Amino acid sequence: MSKRVRVRFAPSPTGPLHMGGVRTALYNYLYAKKHGGDFILRIEDTDEKRFVAGAQDYIIESLKWCGIEPNEGADYGGDKGPYIQSQRKDLYKPYAMQLVENGKAYMAFDTPEELSKMREQAKQMGLPNWQYNAVTRSSMKNSLSLSKQEVEKRLANNEPYTIRMKMPRNVDVKFEDEIRGWVTVNTNNLDDKVLFKESGMPTYHLANIVDDHLMGITHVIRGEEWLPSAPLHVLLYEAFGWDTPKFAHLPLILRPDGKGKLSKRDGDRLGFPVFPINWQTAEGEIYSGYRENGYFSEAFINMLALLGWNPGDNKELFTLDELVETFSLERVGKSGARFDPDKTKWFNQQYLRAKSNEELADLLMPILNKESSDAFSKDYLTKVAGLMKERATFIQDILTDGDYFFNNIKNYDQKTIKKKWKEDTPQIMSELLEILKTVEPFTTQNIETAFSAYLNKNEYGFGKVGPGFRLLVTGKGMGPSMFDICATLGKNKVIQRMDEGIDKINALKSELSQS
Ligand code: GLU
Repeated sequence: MSKRVRVRFAPSPTGPLHMGGVRTALYNYLYAKKHGGDFILRIEDTDEKRFVAGAQDYIIESLKWCGIEPNEGADYGGDKGPYIQSQRKDLYKPYAMQLVENGKAYMAFDTPEELSKMREQAKQMGLPNWQYNAVTRSSMKNSLSLSKQEVEKRLANNEPYTIRMKMPRNVDVKFEDEIRGWVTVNTNNLDDKVLFKESGMPTYHLANIVDDHLMGITHVIRGEEWLPSAPLHVLLYEAFGWDTPKFAHLPLILRPDGKGKLSKRDGDRLGFPVFPINWQTAEGEIYSGYRENGYFSEAFINMLALLGWNPGDNKELFTLDELVETFSLERVGKSGARFDPDKTKWFNQQYLRAKSNEELADLLMPILNKESSDAFSKDYLTKVAGLMKERATFIQDILTDGDYFFNNIKNYDQKTIKKKWKEDTPQIMSELLEILKTVEPFTTQNIETAFSAYLNKNEYGFGKVGPGFRLLVTGKGMGPSMFDICATLGKNKVIQRMDEGIDKINALKSELSQS
């Protein structure tokens, strides 16, 4: 029987989670669910300098909004906790010492000043990338270069030290990545990474390996930026004598122009959010999120799923359950996936259209009825949603483009006034108004019949009557069927708007023709 799949999303709380991070979480989630396994959230906060308050809560709230919640981990509990590395601080040192004892790591006493001096000297000698490694370590102050007595003396004096990996010389480290196939890296290209810091905290590398082992992680699914660290991780598993999990390094997400990685710093700079939900910096600056920009989380997730993975056919719309069903690491690509903001809007539009009119009404209701709870009835909003949804990408579009359903008309579209409000329009509108007053009951069908009869009788084309009628009742030059709009608004409103509007538009018309 194969092992139960256990995967983890292991963000560092160094800021808000960028959409690339959400995609990593999503692929982990999908993989876990597909294989009936566990999806764990582990917070990797060993880098005290880069810690950002609020980032952890932000990560948890983002995953919640996306509907991809862990079943174990920080904020979710489980029997392999704690799931926040700073709360596990004391358990790492013995592991680091175990490596020192079996000759895979060593203690280094060099002070930060000595290290920067070394780097500076190397630079002056034309070696800009000095490294602590198999070649240089013998000339540094560490438990390999110093005598045993000297080391003991330093320890007895409580001199601070770090623990470094003793990177072997000239060894090919080979591992199989689920997405990239075999990867080989020669250790001559790797340095003696710090595993344990003077401060008493492990570095990312040590904590990550120890925790993946202790938490029974079977698959490490993470961003491509961690690929260079993977050989060190493989060597660490070997050094401990532990089974290595399977690795899958996900492709980068590229900017829409394909030029480079989409980064956190891109913020709203490129005209679209890069974060799932709003993030406010300590200075009060706000980076906007997909949630606050009116995106449905299902659309956001659907878009993200296809950013690097393809189902093998042309299907584009997937519910989360369908994604779980279809997802596989084999179909994740190696090359960077270009982010397309227009396509993201398209996804939202598809999800909006797929919602029933009642569901849309439920979404409109709280926005519109913030103050009074019964200003617009569910029935009314359902009708409005039905008329507006084909033209909308966001719920907000229904509110903006259909504002005449919710407010009195504040502005009449100038272009339509200029082009369509002719000399005889006021007279025609007055006649139409008188006819509409007689329509009973005021239904779409009855309004249409009366309107057509009026056109026929006067031998008017639609273009002579329609635009003025729309302008009076909605203030706009475009929109859904006027008969539906009128039936929805109700007779009183329509009559009142026509009655009051004719003079107003006449006045605007003369203002416009003078300017
Ligand atoms: N803490 C790392 C990060 O911030 C996790 C890398 C990994 O998944 O191993 O992305």
